[in-house]
Amino acid sequence: MIQRVDLHTHTCASDGTDTPAQLVENARKAGLAAVAITDHDTLSGLDEAQRTAAQFNDIEFVRGVEVSTGTDQGEMHIVGLWVPKDCEPLENALAAMRARRGERNQRILEKLATLDIHLTMEDVLREAGGESVGRPHIARALITKGYVKTITEAFDKYLGSTGKAYLPKDVMNPEEAVSVMSHIGCSVFIAHPMLKPYPPGWIDEFVKRLLPFGLCGIEAWHSEHTEADSRAVIALARRFHLCVSGGSDYHGKNKPRIQLGTGYGSLFVTTDAYERLKDWRREQGLPC
Ligand code: AMP
Ligand code: ZN
Ligand code: FE
Ligand code: FE
Repeated sequence: MIQRVDLHTHTCASDGTDTPAQLVENARKAGLAAVAITDHDTLSGLDEAQRTAAQFNDIEFVRGVEVSTGTDQGEMHIVGLWVPKDCEPLENALAAMRARRGERNQRILEKLATLDIHLTMEDVLREAGGESVGRPHIARALITKGYVKTITEAFDKYLGSTGKAYLPKDVMNPEEAVSVMSHIGCSVFIAHPMLKPYPPGWIDEFVKRLLPFGLCGIEAWHSEHTEADSRAVIALARRFHLCVSGGSDYHGKNKPRIQLGTGYGSLFVTTDAYERLKDWRREQGLPC
């Protein structure tokens, strides 16, 4: 029987709202055969989720992570799946990223203060459930303190790229992210490549750039991809002999319209696609 899987989700370890255990339980309720947690810049939710999933025989759990990288077209996200437990080089790179996030958050608060908006770091950390803290938590603190009514308003007025307190994130370069993850045995994917319109041929060049560093594939399915987008990514993957992955990018109550497994309603990442990823890993001699 073909079932659904979801290989891109966030918990409160970064900017989602489910705890890792709740996310696994919600994935079971949604009838998913497998789920990956891919929090931004942290692995801290993975052990709890893995322990939870191990209590059940109806769901497989994949340890993952989503890393922000910088390009001439802005941030591109790289997803690593099957992150091993022993992953010191990756953990070190992520810890450095989180430290830079902390500095940026502080500078955003300073910019807000010049606009007569006064939040402390404690106000922000109170909104965060884990160690990867960023703009969504600042947005929630702005709501709690009554400065804005919604997350959208917080991003539009202050935190988004045209907002008054915007600061870009100091991120990894994509080659480094791909190589550190592929070296420890992750399957590495370009995340949501159709999220924005890129110049013609730009994604192809990005793929070519990353292939020598161990890129495994690209996300074909994502809540923000149309069916035509997914078809285009699958065609691109064929041209470069890449694997395809995907998921909803579920963030719990922080993106309430996106559901586990189904996204806005029509997402369907099949167990067949998941089995192909596992076959590829077995061919490479990698565990799964
Ligand atoms: P950061 O990693 O701190 O730069 O925050 C990026 C996160 O903010 C993304 O992963 C989204 O979840 C969220 N985000 C970005 N833009 C918006 C927006 N306009 N409305 C709501 N959430 C957003
Ligand atoms: Zn996010
Ligand atoms: Fe992303
Ligand atoms: Fe994501």
